[in-house]
Amino acid sequence: MNSGNLSRRGFLRRLGGLAVACGVSGLGLSCAKTEGARGAAPAAPAAPAAPPNFVIVLTDDQGYADVGCYGAKGFQTPNLDLMAAEGVRLTDFYVGAPICTPSRAALLTGCYPQRVGLPQVLGPNSKIGLSDREMTIAQVLKARGYATACYGKWHLGNAPKFLPTRHGFDEYFGLPYSNDMWPNHPTGKFPDLPLIEGEKVVNPKVTSADQCQLTTWYAERAVGFIEKNKDRPFFLYVPHTMPHVPLHVSDKYKGKSARGLYGDVIMEIDWSVGQILAAVKRLSLDERTMVIFTSDNGPWLAYGDHAGSAGPLREGKHTTFEGGQRVPCIMRWPGRLPAGRVVTELVTSMDVLPTIARLAGAPLPPHQIDGKDAWPVISCQEGAKSPTELLYYYVGWDLQGVRSGRWKLHVPHPYHHVDVPGMGGRPGKTGTQRQELALYDLAGDIGETANVADRHPEVVQHLSAMIEKCREDLGDAKSPGKGRREPGRKNA
Ligand code: MG
Repeated sequence: MNSGNLSRRGFLRRLGGLAVACGVSGLGLSCAKTEGARGAAPAAPAAPAAPPNFVIVLTDDQGYADVGCYGAKGFQTPNLDLMAAEGVRLTDFYVGAPICTPSRAALLTGCYPQRVGLPQVLGPNSKIGLSDREMTIAQVLKARGYATACYGKWHLGNAPKFLPTRHGFDEYFGLPYSNDMWPNHPTGKFPDLPLIEGEKVVNPKVTSADQCQLTTWYAERAVGFIEKNKDRPFFLYVPHTMPHVPLHVSDKYKGKSARGLYGDVIMEIDWSVGQILAAVKRLSLDERTMVIFTSDNGPWLAYGDHAGSAGPLREGKHTTFEGGQRVPCIMRWPGRLPAGRVVTELVTSMDVLPTIARLAGAPLPPHQIDGKDAWPVISCQEGAKSPTELLYYYVGWDLQGVRSGRWKLHVPHPYHHVDVPGMGGRPGKTGTQRQELALYDLAGDIGETANVADRHPEVVQHLSAMIEKCREDLGDAKSPGKGRREPGRKNA
C-alpha cells in the first residue's frame, strides 16, 4: 500500500511536452519548476485593474490519484492535465473534512466545520444548515459587486433558508444534497430526490436518466453564466454531483474508459472543465480569471469498482488518514500564476476564502475564520512557506489528529475500514478498526505506515499539547469548545 519510496523519488509523467513532477512536502520540491515549464513565478504581481473572476469546480468523492497528472490509471483527463501544465498543481492540498457537508462548509466559509456547527453529513430531513450569520465566499465577493452562481450539489441544508440563494448566490441549479439520498439507494431509505432552480423544485423526482445529464447540465449552465457576465466580475461555483455514487454518465462518455463506469464519469467531468476553460479563453477572460479544481473528500472505497483511488495515500472517505482529506487541486490563472509548477507546501480549502478575498480586494468576514491567505505559496513566490502551521483532522466531533510540517500525529481513534469492497454500485462489507497513538513522517512515509512515535517523543508531546489546545477552541464529542458557533436551525 505504501509508496513512500515512490513518493520520495517523485514520479514524472510526460504531458504534451511538459513533465509534471509529483512530490511531497519536506523534500525540497516546493514549487518545483518542471522540465519545460513555461513562465516564471511572478515575484510581486501587480494588482489587476478590475477585480478578477473566480471559478471553483468541486467534484464529489474524487480520490487523490483520480486525475491523469496525479497518476490516474485506466482513463484520461486531458483538460485537467493541460490546466495543470498551464497553472499550478498542489500535492498537499487538504479539505476540512473527509465527508461532504463539513468539507463544503469549510471551503465556503473558510472555517473548520466544527466552528460553524456542521461537522456531520446532512440528510433530507436535517433540521440544521449553514447559519445566516456565517459568510460564504459568494457573500464576501458580493461586497465587491460580483455576479455569483452555484450549479451543482449544495449539501449545506435543504430548507429554503439554507439554500445557496440565501448565502450570496444570485443563481442556483442542482441537487440540495447527495445523489444517493433517493429511493434507489442500495441499502438505505430516502424520499424522492428533488432538482432545484433558485428556490423552486423544478423536478420533484429525479430519475436515473436525469442523473445521467447532471454533469452536462451543470457545464452548460456554467458556460452560459460566464458568457452572460463576461463584462463584470463573477464568481462561479460548480460543485459536481459526480463521481459520488450512484455513478451516472451521459452517452458522450459511456463505455469510453478502460476503468469502467468510474473512469467514464471522470472523463465527462474532465470534459466539463474543458468547456469552462474554453469559454474563459474564447471570451478573452484568461488573464482575469482564476480557476480552481478540487474534490470535496477522498474516494468512497466501500464501493469498490465504483470508487476512486487515493493512490499512495492510506484509506479514503470517512477517515482522517491522508486518503480521506488530501485531494487533487489544480489552479490556473495565466499571467498571475506560473505555468507547469508543483506546489508542495500545505494549503487547505479553508485558505480559499481569505486568498480570494485578498485578490478581490474584499474585506474578510467580521468573525473568526481559520483559513489563511495562501497566495504567496500558490503563486510560487520565492521562499514562501505554508501559512498553516497546524492542520487538525476531525471525523464529526471526534478530534483524531494534527499535521505540522512533515509530522502527523494520530491520537487513538476508531476508523472506518473496508473489509470487502463492493461491486457494481453496491457497497461492500465495512467495519471499524482502531488506530493507536501514532506519529508519521509524511516527508518519507506518505502512506502512514511506520509509527515513529517512540523515536520522537518531543514531537509527540508538542503535537499532543496542540491537540488539547484545539479541543478547547473547537471542542469534541465531550466538550463544546469556546470558539464554536451554532449552525442555522430550520425552525428558529
Ligand atoms: Mg464527498
